[in-house]
Amino acid sequence: MNKAQRKHYDQIAKLGCILCRHLGYSDSPAEIHHVRKFGGKRDLAPVIPLCPEHHRGNTGVHGLGKKGFATRYSLDEQDLVELTERALSESPSALLVDNKF
Ligand SMILES: [Zn+2]
Ligand SMILES: [Zn+2]
Repeated sequence: MNKAQRKHYDQIAKLGCILCRHLGYSDSPAEIHHVRKFGGKRDLAPVIPLCPEHHRGNTGVHGLGKKGFATRYSLDEQDLVELTERALSESPSALLVDNKF
């Protein structure tokens, strides 16, 4: 992982759990989840911020599996990627990082 990528991940994690945000919960500290397409490279995979429960817990993307997750929350990983991108573009600190590129 290079520096720019790590910084990008930091920015995303700082957004807080994107699912909690969507559900109207207060900001939760988040971990990075890689949205991996079949055969896709991890380094190129989009990433989304998820709290430990929504990431690895029983109600999370790994615990429920892709299908169970989509059924439970009426959205899938791709929707979360879009929500993350929107949240990122609304975050003033993310704009600062963008300007450096
Ligand atoms: Zn959450
Ligand atoms: Zn994950």
